[in-house]
Amino acid sequence: MSSGNTERQIQFMQDLGATILCCTPSYAAYLGETVNEMGIDPADLKLKAGIFGAEPWTEEMRRSIEKSLGIKAFDIYGLTETSGPGVAFECSEQTGMHINEDNFIPEIINPDTGEVLPDGEVGELVFTSITKEAFPLLRYRTRDLCVLSRKKCSCGRTLIKMSKPMGRSDDMLIIRGVNVFPSQIETVLIAEGYAPNYIIEVDRVNNSDTLDIIVEMKPEQFSDKVKDMQDQERALALAIKTMLGINPKVHLVSPKSIARSEGKAVRVIDKRKLHD
Ligand SMILES: [Zn+2]
Repeated sequence: MSSGNTERQIQFMQDLGATILCCTPSYAAYLGETVNEMGIDPADLKLKAGIFGAEPWTEEMRRSIEKSLGIKAFDIYGLTETSGPGVAFECSEQTGMHINEDNFIPEIINPDTGEVLPDGEVGELVFTSITKEAFPLLRYRTRDLCVLSRKKCSCGRTLIKMSKPMGRSDDMLIIRGVNVFPSQIETVLIAEGYAPNYIIEVDRVNNSDTLDIIVEMKPEQFSDKVKDMQDQERALALAIKTMLGINPKVHLVSPKSIARSEGKAVRVIDKRKLHD
């Protein structure tokens, strides 16, 4: 995706006075970055809110998008098999998404045993459709891991709330016996001042798993001194080790060198699958 195309989209939003933006969070982050580079004050856009979904994103990413575009960023959840978007949506509290229970019955199960878990426990989200015709779903396993809560929401809605999916039961990486979600790594990157532009590469060398994280620097983080770069890489590797309990190898790369995506970003390359 060329940045010229993105600049045109921002101009369209300005010309049409668009107030709501719907896309993937990674593309919203890219739009925010481009708005900044074009020297546009986010307050001059008419945008009020954004609805972002279709891929995992963190609270840190939400704050970064809200700041760069001057909007409130809301989470939406859905999947093609149910109805596409519209299964669950965040309210003004921004602390989870209310599920439209008049159309879907949600359950949380243990992904290994299929046992139904009580509210508040992490497990795989399962849906049964009540109103869908022609393509009904009975206890359909989403592979998304999350938590359901019936706690009273101050927005006034009484519909059950689901947490933001914490990962997928099938995209959790097991590296050297440790469960790793890409979202955990993203949380550390943003906390350490990096943009969420990264690639996680897992491989197996001499029967041992390796974890390489390629992270794009912001222009102000770049230095032409090799030692500065090595120090930054070491500091980031230590922060990630503290979170995950395993040692990664961090490779900082120059700004804009990781391809941006208009749709879902590809963040994980698991080369171990090639050897199996
Ligand atoms: Zn609410």
